[in-house]
Amino acid sequence: MKKEILIATHNQHKKEEIQQILGDEFHVTSLTDYNLHEEIVEDGNTFHENAQIKAKYCFEQTGKASLGDDSGLVVEALDGRPGIFSARYAGNHDFAKNMAKVLEELDGEENRKAYFVTVMCLVDEGGTNYFEGRVHGNLIQEIRGEKGFGYDPIFIPNNYDITFAEMKAEDKNKISHRKQAIEKFLQFMEEK
Ligand code: IMP
Repeated sequence: MKKEILIATHNQHKKEEIQQILGDEFHVTSLTDYNLHEEIVEDGNTFHENAQIKAKYCFEQTGKASLGDDSGLVVEALDGRPGIFSARYAGNHDFAKNMAKVLEELDGEENRKAYFVTVMCLVDEGGTNYFEGRVHGNLIQEIRGEKGFGYDPIFIPNNYDITFAEMKAEDKNKISHRKQAIEKFLQFMEEK
């Protein structure tokens, strides 16, 4: 029997990406499949708390093994901002405004170090487990590249000289924070 994993998202793309990585042994479902359209209030203070809130909600509603995730950009010179507020730092899901705010706050700052992080939380009958991925790099002063989303056009990962938005999706996906977290989750599931 295939093992079902419920992903705390309505995002079909996210569901398919995880299904692809997990492979045939798993049956990946989403909130949409369970008609769960209530807004999940992500009022945690950390990536871990927000990922857990989503996974716990799904597990409580369905009793299925549930996976929640939360991601964002952490900037060293900004004391970790935008962090858990990455999606709505200046305007809700307005990527251009969000990037502009980060660049403005970093104006004149020499320390450009930042990392992307993804925390995934699995809640099932076995309890609660977390899987974290990070990709470190530097923020440039201008916007470069058209691919990707969010803060990709201002972020150059370590050991590269192009931004995430200038990279092919498949190249970004090989090293991304999201990929690293999913890989850890997969390893955990295989060892279970
Ligand atoms: P989410 O938790 O995956 O929805 O990510 C929250 C926010 O973090 C997004 O809206 C983006 O602003 C930012 N973010 C997360 N992952 C990435 C990425 O791979 N590239 C650029 N921005 C990202």
